[in-house]
Amino acid sequence: MKLTVKPLKQKDAGRGLAAVDRDVAAELDLEGGDYIRIESGDGTAIARVWPGYPDDQGTGVIRIDGQLRQQADVGIDDTVDVEKADISPAKHVSIALPQNLRISGNIGAHLRDKLSGQPVTQGQNIRVPFGFGFMSSSAQPIPMKIASTEPSGTVIVTDSTEVTLSQQPAEDIQAGESESSNTPAVTYEDIGGLERELEQVREMIELPMRHPELFQRLGIEPPKGVLLHGPPGTGKTLIAKAVANEIDASFHTISGPEIMSKYYGESEEQLREIFEEAEEEAPSIVFVDEIDSIAPKRGEAGGDVERRVVAQLLSLMDGLDERGEVVVIGATNRVDALDPALRRGGRFDREIEVGVPDREGRKEILQVHTRNMPLSDSVNLDEYADNTHGFVGADIESLAKEAAMNALRRIRPELDLEADEVDADVLESLSVTETDFKDAIRG
Ligand code: ADP
Repeated sequence: MKLTVKPLKQKDAGRGLAAVDRDVAAELDLEGGDYIRIESGDGTAIARVWPGYPDDQGTGVIRIDGQLRQQADVGIDDTVDVEKADISPAKHVSIALPQNLRISGNIGAHLRDKLSGQPVTQGQNIRVPFGFGFMSSSAQPIPMKIASTEPSGTVIVTDSTEVTLSQQPAEDIQAGESESSNTPAVTYEDIGGLERELEQVREMIELPMRHPELFQRLGIEPPKGVLLHGPPGTGKTLIAKAVANEIDASFHTISGPEIMSKYYGESEEQLREIFEEAEEEAPSIVFVDEIDSIAPKRGEAGGDVERRVVAQLLSLMDGLDERGEVVVIGATNRVDALDPALRRGGRFDREIEVGVPDREGRKEILQVHTRNMPLSDSVNLDEYADNTHGFVGADIESLAKEAAMNALRRIRPELDLEADEVDADVLESLSVTETDFKDAIRG
């Protein structure tokens, strides 16, 4: 049966789940916990059925997260074929840890409990709510990789699966760091409370990049630039990265203040290089952060250097070809302070405001930042969504991190920080509690 792909709710991401329209599930005789094969023609993913969200009933929608979308090689609003799948239980799964972290003791059993029921495939990156990486005093959940499975292919972890640690660490992941490759790892499920804004960005960027023929047919030019504006820490960078990731575009960052601090002539040179690289690696997103520092309104501290750099930026944008394979996303906290030449036709002529989140938004952002934490049942996220009026995404992230650090401090006496191994039972005992959150919010 053909279904339309949509993003998953933030809180359900990262566990191999597919929320299937309940009418469709009934028709296909699917129950929660069954497995399905999702085919796009370009790729296949296996997912576990999750009851569809009430609003989706009768819409023919399947919701899967960024990881499954990548496996199935689909984007949002694409259609996929779905059928019930008979997936083998795993006899054995071997898991690789990041190079900079060693865990001793009984980790296999703990991981098996947490992964039970989840479909896994060799090479897959996973995050499980099990302890934190202790490196660089970060409270980031530990990234891990499925090193091998027996049998091969996609298999289900069950209560009788033997889970062991691979002898070889995973070379491409690091505890305490989130990104490595050129395409960012952020997905739409990592963004809370910006559904409408994301919808707009997708319409302006993702649609033309993925379906240029539509725009050619209609005789409209895809945008070359989109301007995101709003207070700091509200998710502008996050949106730009998520769009790049979703369309498999390379991501190139220009920091306004940094580029302005170069020596005479170097700023222009560097801009040109970044645009060249973006065109070579197209499709690409060029993200210009704090664009107001490059292009302040004339008269407002705008000197000779600014004029030259703005002229360069404008000419580079004007020179981008019309197929829309390179899109420039500018971000600013001070849209009124921006040189109007930048906002004229053919440049940053589409603007999206990214505002301070409301209560629902704060709840979703809390869910994003606690999703991979071992959260104790005592923590009621609703309460924190209520009590964080005025917090932006970055503040909520700090709150969650601080709560996690409080949890870490609590088990500190049991941790031998000198040792290069952490005991699995100590990790298992780690949980972020109501008190940790209370203390974090008091600051
Ligand atoms: P901006 O570019 O608007 O200044 P960022 O996108 O850099 O803000 O946000 C900084 C950090 O704050 C992000 O890496 C993320 O962890 C968190 N954050 C901000 N907004 C959101 C959001 N809407 N949802 C989830 N996390 C957010």
